[in-house]
Amino acid sequence: MKNIKSDQIINVPCPQWAVRPWQQEDFLRLSTAYKSQRLPHALMLVGPEFVGKTHFSYQLARYLLCQNSTDKAVCNKCQACLLASAGTHPDWINVQPEDKRKALKVDTIREAQEKLQQTAQQGGNKICTIAPAEAMTDSAANALLKILEEPPDNTYFILVTHQSQRMLPTIKSRCQQLRLGVPSKQSLVSWLTTEHEGKDVIEAVRMSRGFPERANDILGSGINAQNSSEQLIDFFNGKVSAAHLAGGVEKSSHTEFVDVFLNLITERTKSSQTCERKSERQEGLDSLPPSGLHQLYLKVAMAKLVLERNANPRLLVEALLVECFEIYTCFDSEIQD
Ligand SMILES: [Zn+2]
Repeated sequence: MKNIKSDQIINVPCPQWAVRPWQQEDFLRLSTAYKSQRLPHALMLVGPEFVGKTHFSYQLARYLLCQNSTDKAVCNKCQACLLASAGTHPDWINVQPEDKRKALKVDTIREAQEKLQQTAQQGGNKICTIAPAEAMTDSAANALLKILEEPPDNTYFILVTHQSQRMLPTIKSRCQQLRLGVPSKQSLVSWLTTEHEGKDVIEAVRMSRGFPERANDILGSGINAQNSSEQLIDFFNGKVSAAHLAGGVEKSSHTEFVDVFLNLITERTKSSQTCERKSERQEGLDSLPPSGLHQLYLKVAMAKLVLERNANPRLLVEALLVECFEIYTCFDSEIQD
């Protein structure tokens, strides 16, 4: 990948060449099209977030750069493979916002265009990956449209979006769309078991609701769902403070922590609906009626939506815990009255 001025053209080392098992069929269709010179110069990968679209785009970029690729795999040995795996291939322009909350600017697209107009330094294809493509401003999208209308030779564009409705129809019509979805549970469990030996894969699949990249992040984050659930129960029992609990969540694991919280509330809601309320005084979340649990659920689900775009996730989690505790004490005092 080329290092140029913009902070939105980012080197992404891609050391491991591994198409996800459930995406291999789609990949083979594209690689076959490429070998028979039928691959369109612009692709748009669409589908929900966290299904591995960006990963797929990087694998395809590596495939199109490899100088000795077979029908479905890279050689992992040629100069292009070595450069792409290190994130230093000069003919791979990867466009992404440095910060998820920011838009992709027109200057970035113009810089990418400038590079793509030059002759390929490695003598092969030139690749431009853009993710998430919906982050482009209107002027950036219009600049891209102009390049797509008259693409430079031997150049492939791979756009990734989970909000294709936000893309310009004129851009969409110039790209071949490929929809990537969630894998079957069996396929996901089998892949995660190979990637994360000895870890609680089933729990991660449940927490991620079957979204592979989320499940992979949960297992890679080192967050322990059991411990986090127990800490949340201790928190509602008044044994630990919000600041202490939020402070203990590892950096970059806040989303996973919020997932554990949502699962805990869901489980409590299910058990409150199936079991008769015990006559003795109950503690912690167990004492909340379904309406209280529902309020908590909404609060936590809302927090999850803004979490990834928040600059200070630790503070957000702490504020969330304080608000949830207020809801809890409000219902708890009603019950005691
Ligand atoms: Zn190669």
